[in-house]
Amino acid sequence: MTDWLDLDRELDAWGEAGLSATFWWRDDDATTSTPELQRLLEAAATAAGQPVPLALAVIPAPADSALVRSLDVADCVVALQHGYAHANRAAAGAKKAELGAGRDLSIALEELRSGSQRLRDLFGNRALPVLVPPWNRIDSALIDRLADVAIRGLSTHGPRTASTTNAGIVLVNTHVDIVNWRAERRFLGIEGCLRLVIGHLAARREERVDASEPTGLLTHHLVHGEDSWSFLGTFLQRTTRHPSVRWMEARQLFSCSVDGPA
Ligand SMILES: [Zn+2]
Repeated sequence: MTDWLDLDRELDAWGEAGLSATFWWRDDDATTSTPELQRLLEAAATAAGQPVPLALAVIPAPADSALVRSLDVADCVVALQHGYAHANRAAAGAKKAELGAGRDLSIALEELRSGSQRLRDLFGNRALPVLVPPWNRIDSALIDRLADVAIRGLSTHGPRTASTTNAGIVLVNTHVDIVNWRAERRFLGIEGCLRLVIGHLAARREERVDASEPTGLLTHHLVHGEDSWSFLGTFLQRTTRHPSVRWMEARQLFSCSVDGPA
């Protein structure tokens, strides 16, 4: 049985080793202002009295000005590019993907270019040139071409095997998906989530994975039930209160702005 005290013990181990347990937070599929989005922004703004930086993966094609207005008052939120239209372009029977193998590269790149432009037009400096491929899947041939459309960062799921690609694209992934997609998008459960958090933290501490990659929390505000919201609130509170935890801003992690590398 894994519980909150096990998380405290793992975080204490980081402190005893003189290390900061770094985290970052990505939430996917934003397009407009909804009650769920408001709840998400509230959770980010009020955790333990200090805002937690939130990277919102926004789907460019349907994104609207109501979403932009919602973020106006949320200082700690940036927008990442969640593909283009979040449309499944995979062949029949293949795993869902918008940017997977088999797509015409020039068409996919043109969509990404147009999506980046749309996010910059909507969000200005708050839009980071960081791609979050829908369903966390992207063809390696496309990764090699991302710099052609001025994308400088990439975020998928699972421990990264390098901090940049050969072409210099910065990689920072997520590791703790709180939704169980195979069980009708229900909450994974407190124990399941904590196992993922502690598992990644311990693997970093013992250098079985890249220790410098912050542990990435992945949420999807549109499908959260009360149990997911409750876990999220408790998780943010407990981690922000722990002296060895540092929540990182995506802008810093991807070392980028619309003007280029910092
Ligand atoms: Zn998505």
